[in-house]
Amino acid sequence: MDNTTLLQIAKEYGSPVYVYDADKITAQYKRLTKAFKNVNSLRLNYAVKALSNISVLKLFNSLGSGLDTVSIQEVQLGLKAGFKPEDIIFTPNGVSLEEIENVAKLGVQINIDNLSILEQFGTKHPKIPVCIRINPHVMAGGNTNISVGHIDSKFGISIHQIPLLLRIVENTGMNINGIHMHTGSDILDIDVFLYASEILFETAKNFPNLDFIDFGSGFKVPYKAGDIETNIEELGKKLSKRFNEFSKEYGKELTLAFEPGKFLVSEAGVFLAKVNVVKQTTSTVFAQVDSGFNHLIRPMLYGSQHDIVNISNPTGRERFYSVVGYICETDTFANNRRINEINEGDILCFKNAGAYCFTMASNYNSRYRPAEVLIYKGKSHLIRKRETFEDIIHNQVEIAI
Ligand SMILES: *Cc1c(COP(=O)(O)O)cnc(C)c1O
Repeated sequence: MDNTTLLQIAKEYGSPVYVYDADKITAQYKRLTKAFKNVNSLRLNYAVKALSNISVLKLFNSLGSGLDTVSIQEVQLGLKAGFKPEDIIFTPNGVSLEEIENVAKLGVQINIDNLSILEQFGTKHPKIPVCIRINPHVMAGGNTNISVGHIDSKFGISIHQIPLLLRIVENTGMNINGIHMHTGSDILDIDVFLYASEILFETAKNFPNLDFIDFGSGFKVPYKAGDIETNIEELGKKLSKRFNEFSKEYGKELTLAFEPGKFLVSEAGVFLAKVNVVKQTTSTVFAQVDSGFNHLIRPMLYGSQHDIVNISNPTGRERFYSVVGYICETDTFANNRRINEINEGDILCFKNAGAYCFTMASNYNSRYRPAEVLIYKGKSHLIRKRETFEDIIHNQVEIAI
């Protein structure tokens, strides 16, 4: 995705626009597969919530991926994209028994992460195989917004509750065919991850009918210069070896599953926005773009740092800018960033915009959500139209006042 191509896309489809590179998604998928080549049965379930456009899902289907879903709507999207129900796992948190039953009826693998629903589901449907989500209480990364394995987390069934869990399974006679963990979004220390895996193996010994062990995700990708990324190759080597040993010990060939989102799509996406105004105050030069946290909320929500490149003037003199949006609320994308000189009308390119960007977009300020474009086999394809006023109004009901 060179600057010329991106500028052409901004011209053709307008701004703001999300652009994804199918080749990069494919390369990441293959890199992960290769890292685990020594495992006989590997399953990668792409986490739909990272980027849920149906054309992207179709791309994953063509790669042989499965899907990890967190709502029945994501399941429906996956089925519509051509996935078979057995290639989908449903890993929700805090959803109703009814939603889980409806997903199970579709033939999708369900994953339950609390004892209350587990007992209710097992009582009513003891024959339907269920995966259970364990919380190994391992802190991955230091940021409590994104690590979900710690003691106060709302995710998973605590390993300290295994005795109660086993009693429920025994009393209901239900069939546990998988166990799962998803400790958070940052696997930086492979040894910490392997430690959590040992807890999962230990737990697995309690369940004689497992088909798979799901290690969730948390692969970190670099966002800015100097960021460390998860060493996938090293993780692959070490975990594969341990997994194969465990499989032998367990006495059955198990499937090793992962459900990455960010790793597969983050770096494959960019967000293009046009500079409306360059505004100088006593202390700051602001570049104001035709977007805001309504379209890309991660910097405001998590303090994420997306690299920003002025693709209209990539060799211009570097100056310091605060890049902000156009909505009527503080919507800072970046503070005090060194960027090639920005003029009004320039197109800024926000990197790492493939994961959790479009999917978190809203209509705040009654703005349209952006268009999405996929570069596939050397050509750009519009995969989502920019919204129109119709989209803003179509569910609103005007009463007589
Ligand atoms: C969000 C999510 C993922 C994907 O996490 P990434 O950090 O994007 O790889 C995987 N599993 C579950 C259960 C999730 O909720």
